[in-house]
Amino acid sequence: MTTYLDHAATTPLRPEVAVAMAEVHTTPLGNPTGSHPPAQRARRLLEEARDEVASFLGRDPGDIVFTSGGTEAANLAVLGTVEAARCGRGEAVLLCSAVEHPAVRESARAAAHDGADSRVLPVDRSGVLDLDALARTLTSRCTLVAVMTANNETGVVQPLGDVIDAVRRRAPQAFVFTDAVQAAPYLDLAEVAAAADLVSLSAHKVGGPVGTGALAVGPRVALAARQHGGGQERERRSGTQDVAGAVGLATALRLVAAERAEGAPRVAALRDRLRRGLLSSLPDARATVPDDVAVLPGHLHLCLRGVEREELLVALGQEGVCVSGGSSCASGALEPSHVLAAMGVAPELAAGAVRFTLGYGTTEADVDRALAAVPGVVDALRRRA
Ligand code: PLP
Repeated sequence: MTTYLDHAATTPLRPEVAVAMAEVHTTPLGNPTGSHPPAQRARRLLEEARDEVASFLGRDPGDIVFTSGGTEAANLAVLGTVEAARCGRGEAVLLCSAVEHPAVRESARAAAHDGADSRVLPVDRSGVLDLDALARTLTSRCTLVAVMTANNETGVVQPLGDVIDAVRRRAPQAFVFTDAVQAAPYLDLAEVAAAADLVSLSAHKVGGPVGTGALAVGPRVALAARQHGGGQERERRSGTQDVAGAVGLATALRLVAAERAEGAPRVAALRDRLRRGLLSSLPDARATVPDDVAVLPGHLHLCLRGVEREELLVALGQEGVCVSGGSSCASGALEPSHVLAAMGVAPELAAGAVRFTLGYGTTEADVDRALAAVPGVVDALRRRA
């Protein structure tokens, strides 16, 4: 029996999404840019999907650029605004929080490599952005401020409204980009991220297909395309659009929005039971984020002293409990977490970091099985060490 508690890594495709995508795949469709009836059908499906994504984000449909996922959306947001600024003003200044996902962090590094002035904004010990440091760093030279809506490792929700207020006051010319990939399953982004200039999404975190995402680009944003060709997506992202992927993303977002009011508190209650149970049964376990900090409903991040996390993840997997260490590179190998380092978590504690992430499909029985399995596995590993 598998107890899947790694929904922040990817969450299973929703059956309704599979049905909607299968319908698209079995309908004779043309290229959405064409003029004949099959092309018109494809265009209609694509534009209906765009309307749905726009409505989820509280945006104009014209703002939505379909991409191949959250990584491409972040690359386009960061490198596209930097390039437009450098072409216009001759310079680009980029501010990114210290806890951004590698999709943003590595884009910022690439921009710096190409000559942009890229700075890192610190977080406090809870992983929340330091707003004073932001205020001190903002100047009239800033091009882009990137602060994620919620963190993928810890689930910590950032004070995005305060970030946007500070940017509008001190650097009104700058754009705000928020990576909302992890927040999308739970937060009402039409409210939380309405005032951000750029917002990114990924379908496979909401029960849609892997390989589809979107970037919302506000009307005042100067953005240079990263991908050149036939000028699709209003010249912002060339390439024949993946109609089935767009329909899959739109269907998943519609379900997420419909479930949110009941689903988010239900998942949070399960997560809280897991948290209480593990903290009381695991000696030397520490909750990485304090109780009073806003965290996504599905996230539970613990640091277990005296346990090596790779061993722990493998041993838990053998017991059917699937969790993650929070950060991994493409090879799957665990790397030291830049998020925990930015929060000042001691390396010996970070070495035993483990992330449990619940989703809409998680049940009481999943929590029971995790509570039954984890203490024994941890105990066995500690004895062996
Ligand atoms: N941003 C965040 C916060 C993520 O958690 C992820 C995926 O883990 C991404 C971006 C990348 O999205 P994708 O897997 O669609 O490229």
